[in-house]
This record gives sequence, C-alpha cells and structure tokens, in this order.
Amino acid sequence: MRYISTRHGRAAATGRDFDEILLTGLAPDGGLYVPQRLPRYRAAWFDALRGLSYAEVAARVTQPFLGNAVPVAEWRRMIEAAYRPFTHPAVAPLRQLDSGLWLLELFHGPTLAFKDYALQLVGPLFDRVLRKRRRRVTIIGATSGDTGSAAIEACRDREAIDLFMLYPAGRISEVQRRQMTTVPAPNVHAVAVEGTFDDCQDLVKAMFADAAFRDELGLSAVNSINWARIMAQIVYYVAAAVALGAPAHDVAFAVPTGNFGNVYAAHVARRMGLPIARLAIATNRNDILTRFFARGTMSLGAVEPTISPSMDIQVSSNFERFFFELAGHSGPKTEAAFKHFRASGTLPTTRRQWQAARALFQAERVDDDATRATMGELYRAAGVLIDPHTAVALTAARRVRREPATPMVVIGTAHPAKFPDAVMAACGVRPAMPPRLANLMALPERRVSLPNDLAAVQNFVRAHVRQGVAA
Ligand SMILES: *Cc1c(COP(=O)(O)O)cnc(C)c1O
Repeated sequence: MRYISTRHGRAAATGRDFDEILLTGLAPDGGLYVPQRLPRYRAAWFDALRGLSYAEVAARVTQPFLGNAVPVAEWRRMIEAAYRPFTHPAVAPLRQLDSGLWLLELFHGPTLAFKDYALQLVGPLFDRVLRKRRRRVTIIGATSGDTGSAAIEACRDREAIDLFMLYPAGRISEVQRRQMTTVPAPNVHAVAVEGTFDDCQDLVKAMFADAAFRDELGLSAVNSINWARIMAQIVYYVAAAVALGAPAHDVAFAVPTGNFGNVYAAHVARRMGLPIARLAIATNRNDILTRFFARGTMSLGAVEPTISPSMDIQVSSNFERFFFELAGHSGPKTEAAFKHFRASGTLPTTRRQWQAARALFQAERVDDDATRATMGELYRAAGVLIDPHTAVALTAARRVRREPATPMVVIGTAHPAKFPDAVMAACGVRPAMPPRLANLMALPERRVSLPNDLAAVQNFVRAHVRQGVAA
C-alpha cells in the first residue's frame, strides 16, 4: 500500500511506503498521510473474523497497510507481544450496560487509557523499522496528561529511540505524573517545565523549528496524526462489530472525541466495509466539531477546561483527513482550506461538503453537568463506574439512538480510576485502584524540572540522548 499527503500537489501523487510515513508522521508539505486506496472487504471476510483472538484480528486488519515493512510472521509475533501484557484476556472486552447498549472497554493496557491500544503496537514497530534502517531518533513531545504516559510505556527500553516528554509542572494529576516519572528505563525522560501546557508545546515546536538541533538529534514525534496509530485503532471497531453480529447486522458507535483520531478510525473501518449504521462524535464544551456539524462552519474558539481534560482541544488535527475526502481527494483544495483555517481561524466548507459530512456523522456536545449526571445514573442503575470521557460518549449515545435493534457501542477511553475525583463527585464513591495504579504510589520517582527556557531544555536533551547523536 502507498500513501499520499492530504496536501499533495496536482501531479505529485506517486505515493510513499509505510516505513517512510511511519517515521516522518507529518508530510513535508504540512499535510497528513492517507492510503492512496483503502482495502474494501465483503461480508465473508468479516465473517471469517468471528471467534478469532484480538491479536489475530489485528494481524488481518493491519497487514495490508504495512506492505512489506515487516515480514508477516514477525509482524504477527510483534502484535502478540504488544497485547500480551493487557490485563483482560479479550484485550478490548464489551460490557453490556442496558438492552442493546454496550461499553467497549479500551482501558486494559499499561496506562489504562485507549491510547495504549495503538501506541503499544506503534512503539515496537517504530523501533523495528529504525533498526532495519540503522537509524536512531529522539522523540520529543508535550503532554497534558494521558498521551505522555502512553508514549513512555510504548517507547521504554527501545534500542533506537530516546524519548523526552515535557509536562507543565504542578498542572497534571499525581497519578498522571507518577505514570511518567516512575518508569526506570534509561531512554525515557519526563521533564516538568515551569509553565503551562501551551509553553510545553511551544518548546516542542521551537525544537522542531531549530533545523540544526532537529538534524543533530534526529527529532521525531509519535503524535496522533501518525497513520500507524489510526491503523491500530481500526482493529477494535472491527472486533467489536463482529462480536455483536456484523456483517449480517449493523452496529452504531459513540466516540468521545478531541483530535478526531479515534472516531476517524471508525470511519475508516466503515469505508473498509464494516456496516456502521450510525457514528456519533461526542465532545465536551470544547465543541468546535459539534458546531461544525450543526451549522456548517468550523471556527476556532478558546480552550475551556472541563472534567474530561483529554478532550480539551480546539484544533482537531485528524479532521484534515476527513476533509480531504469531502474535497474529492484534492490536495490543492485541502491545502488551501487549511492554510486559510490557520490564518483566519475559519475553515471554508461548501454546503455540499457540510451535507456530505452530516450524512456520515452525528455530533453532540455534552457539558460537565450532563456528564456527571450520566455517571451517577449509570452507577445507580447498573453499579458500573465510568470515567468522564466515556460518560460524554454515553450521554451522546443516548441522545442519538434511534433504532433499538442496532447495538450501540460506547467507546470507553479511560479507566474510572484515572479520574477518581470526578467519579467521586458524580457517584459518591471512589473507584477501586487497579493493581497497576496501586503500585504506582509506592514506586520511586525520577523528577526533573526545568525552567521554561528553550536553551535549558535543549541542553538537557543533548546531555541525555544515548550515544550523543543520531546515526
Ligand atoms: C486522547 C483521549 C480522547 C480523545 O481521543 P482523540 O483521538 O483525540 O479524539 C478521549 N478520551 C481519552 C481518555 C483520551 O486520552
């Protein structure tokens, strides 16, 4: 399979290999990579997945995307190894909440949030492709919570990767900090910056913009715009739908959304032939997507803090991939639209594009009060505790549901124990700590703190990269 940029020029659509787009993430023209053409499967292909293990489903779904980046047998072993440490034998189990209403639990990985499902696979894959090419990279990122720990767990002890994750000192929870600072691997570094999350992100951008530094250290990112993460996320939609009767029966999904990565993966699964009758985008008060679907214009607002902080985002980066489709796969049109968006804060869309988008997704905005009410009601009715992100999706699912015969699956993106205060406020009880989190409080921390100063951070990175420079 070959990949093209969403901003490709008129002629330049020859395509790149999986290896290349894995390592670069963002295309040089500023666009996002998408497959030149998606595989499309008939009912029999989905039927044959019934009863297979999660790893086996993952192997079948992802293989065509890899091309010959990794030999087939080795890729299967890598997938087995990636999901073996997950604490539920089904990896991504479904739990029934009500008649026809299901919860897909994507929080059985090492950091108890859904990002593990992609990153646990992409970390080793990155390492493998780098070693094959005899290259090393220095991954630099900024985190306001879940992404940092998921990336650290995915990259720890990898030969070809050094990872530096910046977080705002004192502005993340103790659990989130400890998930990063207690990892004893010599190649990962969580660095507290005396500043805000935006300061951390600005430092990361400044390091990438410093060409000499970037080349000296072989800077790279494993952020949510990397196609490999989308690919790994398609798997659980396919596995859940097949378990609930697809392809003979339709299913519906409600997805708590920030960067549009997770819900876009569901859309790709649908394009591959999975019968998804309804796909709901659930946002918190940061509702740029919901406003777009309601009114047909996408315009930036200010980020507001909520009890579902991993969705406190205004720019949903992965939306560009969907827009590219709405623009008839035109690189020049997509480039013009997103340049305009960056300059003016408004994405130009036509009425026809808006209508096409509305035929594919429904979007709901759920505020903190409604989120807490849903958490409390579910606990009283079914004795089940859910985290606030999942509760945003459950609220949306209840609002958009029309066909009682179609199973509605709520995507559970974090374990309730990751957000104990919000659970306590909504339900009056504290979620039990899974063993993984309980141990965390006893482990020693490696704490590093630096001023909000580019030179200080660059010096720290230089001093701690193994073997000094990228080969
Ligand atoms: C990252 C995250 C989300 C949002 O996912 P996107 O792919 O950015 O839409 C939702 N819930 C939790 C718990 C997350 O960590």
